[in-house]
Amino acid sequence: MRIAFLGLGIMGRPMASNLVKAGHEVCVWNRTARQHIDGAKTAVSPADAAKECEVVWMCVADTAAVERVMFGADGVEQALHEGMIVVDSSTISPSATQRFAERIAARGVQWVDAPVTGSKIGAENGQLIFIVGGTPEAVEFLQPLFKAMGKSVIHIGDTGKGQAAKVCMNLQIAMIYEGFAEGMTLARKLGVEPQKMVELIQASMIRSGVVDYKIPFVLRHDYSPNFPLRLMHKDIHLLLDTAKEVRVKLPALETVDEIYELSSEEGWDDLDYAATIQLLERWAGLSK
Ligand code: NAP
Repeated sequence: MRIAFLGLGIMGRPMASNLVKAGHEVCVWNRTARQHIDGAKTAVSPADAAKECEVVWMCVADTAAVERVMFGADGVEQALHEGMIVVDSSTISPSATQRFAERIAARGVQWVDAPVTGSKIGAENGQLIFIVGGTPEAVEFLQPLFKAMGKSVIHIGDTGKGQAAKVCMNLQIAMIYEGFAEGMTLARKLGVEPQKMVELIQASMIRSGVVDYKIPFVLRHDYSPNFPLRLMHKDIHLLLDTAKEVRVKLPALETVDEIYELSSEEGWDDLDYAATIQLLERWAGLSK
């Protein structure tokens, strides 16, 4: 298939590489540096990348970035043609997704929201899970591409529902991690060895995928980014805004947001979101 892949960050770069490895004809574009991928063509703009493609696949930072890539001066909109499918693997606003989809539907182009979970490692190993909103026909057509980059596809519903489910999932990831971080910090202050606490967690019903993934990093105090704090913080704001749109209160998430605000002020935006535990440790008077 001929695919334009836009956005070569932590997630987009390995995703585009996996499409190339699966034998697809890929043309990539990235806003600034890191624009080349072995085996793919490089375009000078999103419109240039999209012009002869059947599918345009995006994985950029946020709602504003998607808007710019799609509808900016040299955006994909310039190159839309009937029958094309636009797929968005960024995590962005569900309501903006619906607006963007309506705008391109007028040109005979379908929008499929396909945010992902699986982090950097899942993207590199082709083991992502796609959380999808779109028509059954479009989702079926995209199966070979999902397969090249991921291990499963969960079709949530129509356009926008993939993003809705994804942000609600990230709400739980952020809060499960903060619960773990607070429990670990208090345990240490009470004299419990972190390794013993971990042994207990992993033997008990509070064990979770998020905690299992983060434990080795936290024990090593390794906060190199798998999912950068700035992106989880972006998702927290996305959640609070989305909840406001539909008049839902999220009091615990508002508190977690304050921890992210303070972590951001510490200059930890480009560390993993697991770095938020450092604030709790500092407040508790604990050293590394
Ligand atoms: P990243 O490494 O920060 O990459 C962001 C990408 O977006 C880069 O290609 C960047 O271009 C581009 N970008 C940012 N602002 C832009 C703009 N205004 N116009 C055009 N391009 C712009 O982020 P990532 O980790 O790949 O994440 C990408 C998306 O996947 C995000 O929505 C994130 O929430 C979601 N996600 C990430 C993970 C994860 O574990 N990392 C997991 C699931 C979902 P430059 O290179 O020019 O800056």
